[in-house]
Amino acid sequence: MVQLLLVEDDASVRSALTRALSERGHVVTSAPTAAEGLRQAVEGRPDLVVLDLGLPDLDGSYVLRMLRAVTSVPVIVATARDSEQEMVRVLDAGADDYVVKPFSASQLNARISAVLRRSQGETSGEDAVRVGGLRMSVKAREASLEGRPLELSPKEFDLLHYLATRAGEVVSKRELLAEVWQIPFGGADKTIDVHIAWLRRKLGETATAPRYLRSIRGSGVKIVDPSR
Ligand code: CA
Repeated sequence: MVQLLLVEDDASVRSALTRALSERGHVVTSAPTAAEGLRQAVEGRPDLVVLDLGLPDLDGSYVLRMLRAVTSVPVIVATARDSEQEMVRVLDAGADDYVVKPFSASQLNARISAVLRRSQGETSGEDAVRVGGLRMSVKAREASLEGRPLELSPKEFDLLHYLATRAGEVVSKRELLAEVWQIPFGGADKTIDVHIAWLRRKLGETATAPRYLRSIRGSGVKIVDPSR
C-alpha cells in the first residue's frame, strides 16, 4: 500500500483527490499549508508527496527546495502554469514530475504510478545519487536528467557518478584518472577533457554555458546543482 501526502490548500480539490486516490487503494493524508506539509513529510514518512505550488503561506518552489533538503521522497508538483520554463524550473528544483491544473485524479494516479516505478531502485537506500535534476542509480546503471533518461557510455556513467557523489567539490583530473580510469598517475588529461565534453553534450550544456559541470582552470572539475 502506498502512502501519499497531498499538500493542497483548496479544500474541495483536497477532499476530491483524497477520495479518488483512496478509492485507488492509496493511503492518503493531506495538509492545507506548506508548514503543515513539510512537518508531515518529515514525520509521516510518506512514499510520495503531491505538492501544490500555489500555497498560502510559502512559495511552492521554496517548499520543494526545503523538502529536498530534508528528504528524498518523490515529489509530484501540481502547478497552474503550463510552460516549458515552469516545467524546467520545478524539475530543476527537485520535483520528479508535474501535473498542470486542472488535472483529473486518474491523470495524477498514472503519474504517481510512473514516479513510484521509477523511484523504486533509484531512490532506495544508499544507491541513489541526486544533484538537482540529475538522478543516478549505480545498481541499475541508470541516469536521468530532469525526468528524461540519459544514454551514457560506461565511462561516462562512472565519471558522472563519481562527480555526483562529490557534488560541490572540485575534483582534480589526477583523482579522476586514479578513481575512474584506475590510472594512478597523470598524463591522460585529454581523456578527461574529451569525456567531460561528451557528458556536457548529453546534459545539454556547453563549456561556455555550463549548468552542472564546471571546469576550474588548473584545478579540475566539479558538478553543481544549477538551481542553487
Ligand atoms: Ca493552491
